[in-house]
Amino acid sequence: MRPESLYPLFVPLTSLSGAGPRLAGLLERLAGPQVVDLLWHLPTTIIDRRFTPKIAEAPAGRIATVTVTVDAHLPPTSSRYPYKIRCRDETGFLHLVFFHAKVEYLQRLLPIGAVRVVSGRVEHFNNEIQIAHPDYIAPPAETISVAMVEPVCPLTAGLTAKMVGRFVRMALDQAPDLPEWHDSELLRRHGWPSWREALRSAHTPAAEDDLAPGHPARERLAYDEILANQLALALVRQAARRRSGRSVCGDGSLQRRVLAALPFALTGAQTRCVQEILADMAETAPMMRLLQGDVGSGKTVVALMAFLNALETGAQAALMAPTEILARQHHATLAPLAEAAGVSIALLTGRDTGKARKAVLAALAEGSLALVIGTHALLQEAVAFRDLALVVIDEQHRFGVHQRLALAGKGNAVDMLVMTATPIPRTFTLALYGDMDISRLDEKPPGRQRIETVVKPVSALADVVAAVGRARIGGARVYWVCPLVAESETTDLAAAEARHAALRAALGEGVGLVHGRMKGSERDAVMAAFIAGAVTLLVATTVIEVGVDVPAATVMVIEHAERFGLAQLHQLRGRVGRGTERSTCLMLYAPPLGETARARLAIMRETDDGFRIAEEDLRLRGAGELLGTRQSGLPDFRLADLAAHGKLFAMAHDDASLILARDPDLATPRGEALRTLLYLFARDVVVKTLRSG
Ligand code: ADP
Ligand code: MG
Repeated sequence: MRPESLYPLFVPLTSLSGAGPRLAGLLERLAGPQVVDLLWHLPTTIIDRRFTPKIAEAPAGRIATVTVTVDAHLPPTSSRYPYKIRCRDETGFLHLVFFHAKVEYLQRLLPIGAVRVVSGRVEHFNNEIQIAHPDYIAPPAETISVAMVEPVCPLTAGLTAKMVGRFVRMALDQAPDLPEWHDSELLRRHGWPSWREALRSAHTPAAEDDLAPGHPARERLAYDEILANQLALALVRQAARRRSGRSVCGDGSLQRRVLAALPFALTGAQTRCVQEILADMAETAPMMRLLQGDVGSGKTVVALMAFLNALETGAQAALMAPTEILARQHHATLAPLAEAAGVSIALLTGRDTGKARKAVLAALAEGSLALVIGTHALLQEAVAFRDLALVVIDEQHRFGVHQRLALAGKGNAVDMLVMTATPIPRTFTLALYGDMDISRLDEKPPGRQRIETVVKPVSALADVVAAVGRARIGGARVYWVCPLVAESETTDLAAAEARHAALRAALGEGVGLVHGRMKGSERDAVMAAFIAGAVTLLVATTVIEVGVDVPAATVMVIEHAERFGLAQLHQLRGRVGRGTERSTCLMLYAPPLGETARARLAIMRETDDGFRIAEEDLRLRGAGELLGTRQSGLPDFRLADLAAHGKLFAMAHDDASLILARDPDLATPRGEALRTLLYLFARDVVVKTLRSG
């Protein structure tokens, strides 16, 4: 149950006086549906009215507050012109300008001869100094009503700063004093105010500096939100640990057979990760582990060993991939190895229908099929297992937390391994996965060479085409990537098709095209031709971004490289350099380059360390954009900024573990306060996991 103290905040916006359905609708679009959402709607800029010049010294474009005497009302000669009021001080004249004026109202507000304090943006127009529609007009005795520093929150059409400010203030007035959930020593050390004081202070900045994410009030509020996030994840984890799980511990027989069949030996990092995973599966608590490894680090074989471990106990396992191409490719890689070990394996995607699909479903349900590779199709209700013990999810940032749990729900105390090829900075790992255990593949298979990366303006296109032609004659397999900018899929597609046609005209046979609008079977055919070498130049939209593995490919051209984010460029480039041959990546850009794009391309040229690239990406783009909130299943942070508050995540993670170690059911008075915190940030689903919830 939500604590009563929070009731006034969890009410619809229409409960605020003056907020009718229309206004409430606009505010909701801006901040959220409830009063509490307005509390999180912090100002992003300020209007500083402390500049109080004489009229003659008031520069155009600046906000100024001037004290003037009303001199004359100048009604317009035509309704097309504004109503003007001439004011003066000892240095000159200032015209106040009003369009669609309510004359009577202005006469009352600004009677001739009266002294008034006026604040607004100064304009110079036709040799006159003017302020159009001043923000404030008040007699000197009432200047207290002029907010000298005015916070401005993000706005939307139909809402002015004044209106939003008024409702935010009402919300602040409804914010109760809440019991402190932080350790007093922590507050002292950081100089953080109480929750209410932090809110008040964050909403009333006195200067630009007060808007910085490191300001104590803002930092405290961000930490509140982050701690709620970390505590919720830790509680989910705790609940999973309390459920009685099963120990999955195979005898190693299948693994030995597959290792013998592999054309290579595992790297040290692969061996270590396999050991970590097997040890975790042997525990009775369900595994929640992240396998993190840069592109090409060899995650697939590691996952395979985990599968075999589960299969050795007679249980089943599933691998879910985000795209059809990737699922098929995993299947193609794993099938011969599975067969070498005598293990049954099948593919299940949205494209499998009819009899074949029925047969797979039946085999899964009765247990005669041990290992299934698939896409989202695995989540369908019709998919049931006899005894699912392990779920591996590839490229997880494309799946939401829901989907992870839905697949795990098809078994009992299922062990979960999430593989990610996007090297996620630690901040993200914590925000996304919280207390997941992490295995890192920090070593690439031997013989890999650095990918030579060249950045060129698009004017060098003809040279690039010629170079690609020479490379093909030398036996190279080439990717040519055309960007999808998503604004208009049709134009992007047209660009890719045009490039395909042009390259074909220039270079002859063996030029293929793949894109996301193709039928699956067509796409497979082109990919198969590329793998087999019938196609040696493959023009592609970004469908090849994720996971595609053609070790023979050694050249990649990326057109409009300036349109891609760093992480995406890294993923793309990772499609080459997967074999022992030397590889090249040519990044073509259309000038002029913006500063960020220039920095991105420079980093790509400089390093192929995925972790470094991910950190730089975070720095250059800001957190929200990095993975894309919706795609990533990344929790929506209102106050915390993943780029600016990175350190707070690690702190909150430790804090949450300590809290639960001391008070696992949040039963102490501080625990009680922490429950309120969870409710405040709508993380209350986890409160149900508490024994005395
Ligand atoms: P990731 O999924 O991490 O990007 P993959 O599992 O697709 O990487 O492996 C990339 C390539 O490296 C594959 O062609 C795979 O066969 C090969 N590979 C994996 N492990 C090794 C190893 N220990 N030695 C040599 N090659 C390996
Ligand atoms: Mg892979």
